[in-house]
Amino acid sequence: MAGNWKMYKTPAETAAFFEAFRPLIAAAGHCEIVICPPFIDLPAAVASARGTSIRLGAQNLYWAKEGAFTGEVSGPMIRAAGATHAIVGHSERRQFFGETDETVLKRTVAALDAGLTPIVCVGELLEHREAGRTEAVLCEQCLKGIAGLDERQFAQIVIAYEPVWAIGTGRNASPDDAAQVHELIRFTAARRGVPGRLSILYGGSVNAGNVLSLLARPELDGVLVGGASLDADGWAELVGLGGAA
Ligand code: PEP
Repeated sequence: MAGNWKMYKTPAETAAFFEAFRPLIAAAGHCEIVICPPFIDLPAAVASARGTSIRLGAQNLYWAKEGAFTGEVSGPMIRAAGATHAIVGHSERRQFFGETDETVLKRTVAALDAGLTPIVCVGELLEHREAGRTEAVLCEQCLKGIAGLDERQFAQIVIAYEPVWAIGTGRNASPDDAAQVHELIRFTAARRGVPGRLSILYGGSVNAGNVLSLLARPELDGVLVGGASLDADGWAELVGLGGAA
C-alpha cells in the first residue's frame, strides 16, 4: 500500500499526519506501507516513522550522483535521508516535466544503484484506451523503458500500472481491466526472462469504496494511492481494507 502525496504538506503537517496515523496502523502487519512525501518532508517523515514498519519514498530522483544540476536530488541523497523507495516516471512527471521512457530507465537504474526500490509508473492515456491501443502503449513503455534493465535489476523493481485517465479523476479502472494489464506486464517481463514474480501495484482513484474489489484480484499486488493517502484516518482505513481483501 503506497501513498503518493504529490505536492502537498509542509514538514509540520507531515509530523501531524504521522502522529495521527501511527496508532491507527499499529496492528496492520498484513502489508508493506510506503509513503512518498515531497522531498522537504522526508526528514520529518523519517523521524516520525522511526520505530514503525512504515517505509518512506521520494517522488522522483535525478540519475547523476551529484553535480551541477540545480534543483535536482540524487538517489544517494534520498537514501541518506532515510528513504527506501522512489517513484519513477509518474504520469504527472511525463505530462508536465518532459519525462520520457528513456529518462525513466535512467532514473530507475539510478534508484537501484542507490539501494532504493523504484516504483516505476506506466499507463495509457484515455485516447489510447478509446482507440484500443492500451496494450500497444504499455508494451512500448516497457520496451523503451524498463525492459532496458537486466534480469537482476528487473527483479528488484515494483511496477505501478496507473492509467492516466484514472489519476485524480474519481474514475478507476475496473478490476478486470486492471488485472488484464497486470497480466500483460507480467507476460512481457517473463518473456524478458525476469525470474520470480514481479510486484505490480494498481493506481488511479483508489478509495475505500473500490479497494476491496481491486485487491480481490490476485493479479494485483497492492495499490499506489494519491489523494486518498493524504488524510490519516482515510489512509489508515484503506490500509486496513487492504488486509481484508
Ligand atoms: C497517483 O498520484 O499516483 C494517484 C494514483 O492519484 P489518485 O489516487 O489521486 O488518483
